[in-house]
Amino acid sequence: MTPRRAYLDALVAHLGPGDVLVSGLGANARWLPHLPVRVPVFALCDAMGAAIPLALGVALTRPGRRVVALEGDGALLMSPNVLATVAAARPANLTCVLWANGRYESSGGQPLPDAPVDWVALARAAGIAHAERIGDAPGLGAALARLRTVRTPALLVLDVLFDPAEEIPPYSERPEEIRARFRL
Ligand SMILES: [Mg+2]
Repeated sequence: MTPRRAYLDALVAHLGPGDVLVSGLGANARWLPHLPVRVPVFALCDAMGAAIPLALGVALTRPGRRVVALEGDGALLMSPNVLATVAAARPANLTCVLWANGRYESSGGQPLPDAPVDWVALARAAGIAHAERIGDAPGLGAALARLRTVRTPALLVLDVLFDPAEEIPPYSERPEEIRARFRL
């Protein structure tokens, strides 16, 4: 199983000028300020399930930019209806990256309900035709490169390792610092 950091490194390496990152709360939001990200990042604090809706708004109002949303499986399980909203809005420039580890990691690693959700099937059933499951970091990089030219809303489902011993750097949730990172 691929660890979070390997996926994050691949993600950062495949971001290009004009991209925008929107991250749900938790480990990804805490890691990003410590990585060489050269695009605007909006990291949510304490707002589970809000990353994709917020990213959708950015994508629709900034059609010239590619918006990448990072969301956890526990967060999306709280409001999966957003998949239908994305499908209806058809943003050509929105890529949703779902970090699937079967845990509510940000709140302590509690397991999700013991009913394995087929996220790819759910996304397709909601109307997002481009949905794929990814199992390693090179696969994420290749998918991000492909999607730059495909111009369709997409959901990439990452099988990511749940590592309760993962050491994540200190992170500031100060609003002015979040704003500064978003204004790059
Ligand atoms: Mg999770």
